[in-house]
Amino acid sequence: MNLLMVGAGLSGAVIGRMMAEAGHRVTILDARDHIAGNCHTERDADTNVMLHVYGPHIFHTDDAEVWDYVNRFETFLPYKNRVKTTSQGQVFSLPINLHTINQFYGKTMRPDEARAFIEEIADKSIEDPQTFEEQALRFVGPDLYEAFFKGYTMKQWGVSPTELPASILKRLPVRFNYDDNYFFHRFQGMPENGYTDMVERILDHPGITVHLGTRFTRDMGKNYDHVFYSGPLDGYFDYELGRLGYRTLDFEKFSGTGDYQGCAVMNYGDVEVPYTRITEHKHFSPWEEHDGTVCYREYSRACGPDDVPYYPIRLMDEKEMLGHYVTRAEAEAGVTFVGRLGTYRYLDMDVTIREALDTGRAFLQHLADGTRMPVFTKPPV
Ligand code: FAD
Ligand code: UDP
Repeated sequence: MNLLMVGAGLSGAVIGRMMAEAGHRVTILDARDHIAGNCHTERDADTNVMLHVYGPHIFHTDDAEVWDYVNRFETFLPYKNRVKTTSQGQVFSLPINLHTINQFYGKTMRPDEARAFIEEIADKSIEDPQTFEEQALRFVGPDLYEAFFKGYTMKQWGVSPTELPASILKRLPVRFNYDDNYFFHRFQGMPENGYTDMVERILDHPGITVHLGTRFTRDMGKNYDHVFYSGPLDGYFDYELGRLGYRTLDFEKFSGTGDYQGCAVMNYGDVEVPYTRITEHKHFSPWEEHDGTVCYREYSRACGPDDVPYYPIRLMDEKEMLGHYVTRAEAEAGVTFVGRLGTYRYLDMDVTIREALDTGRAFLQHLADGTRMPVFTKPPV
């Protein structure tokens, strides 16, 4: 069959590879002039530091098949994400752990003491937290919420934490020990030569042709037996029902020599500091030596029509519009919507790969025995 992948990110690359290995002819288009989508990495021309061009990407998963998959194409070296935050004139460790709590309150509590202490200051009147703020007040109380979450979240999302769902904060743990690993997944690492190198290897198959700098429009689908679309869901329909809300990021790049901040990611919790975090890229490759250094100051704002969509907002208005787009999509034949933009969800890389593998298998099954091929492998609502 003659298949089209829209987008040369992880979604397009993983599905494309599976289809090519099954003997199909695969064309991949990307509007950008590089592969790997938002995971794209490239070396800085002046310092040779590997840059995470669209923001910091750390690979972490419990999914053994996905871990085997990425290791098939790239060597992953050990990497633990240890994030710091500057707040109210001090540097603290994240996620909130025993060190953070003891430092913040000037105490020397052991785990059970800290647990009892936090339980005491937490707002127990909130039984079933619905909003981000309620979730924070219930779990860590007002002081830690103000210092670490309130200002950062207002900068990141542009709205009060009282308007955001509790689910955003549920992604972050609170630990009553000194474990400062941001993630708890079994497999964690960083690709030795960057994510773009990994995607290049995934795409390196004689059945795959990649066209960069090529924007897909719906009429192009007619020339193919099936389209896997990892662009924006609303963009597929020319934004006819309006634009789904996203936050975009601006990265202010600055370079120097030596070590600027001593860690890869430093968050800024105070609302008066206009950026959310600074990323110093060479710390993502601790096995490399560089005299020079490159940092990005990261600013978040509402996404306009010409900006890169990063974080789906998914508040009430968006959910309603999303429902209408999903109805439209379900009426389309010969197309499957995939990935973080095609399904309007925040997806980590491992989940993106898992869903791409599942989507590819479902399609091969559909070809083999006529099993219905869903328009979304996982419905976005
Ligand atoms: P994308 O990477 O967005 O690829 C889609 C591609 O489609 C793009 O290249 C785009 O140019 C192309 N495209 C869109 N429309 C068209 C069109 N009409 N025609 C042609 N091409 C088109 N995940 C982690 O696991 N760990 C992390 O630490 C992590 N950090 C992140 C940090 C940030 C700031 C963000 C925003 C995300 C982070 N992620 C992280 C998530 C990760 O970026 C995604 O999982 C991954 O990019 C999803 O891949 P994708 O192929 O679905 O989408
Ligand atoms: N967050 C915060 N302060 C921090 C880090 C995170 O308030 O120092 C909040 C913020 O609202 C963010 C959410 O917690 O969107 C999830 O954090 P995560 O680190 O998962 O953010 P992401 O990887 O999505 O940027």
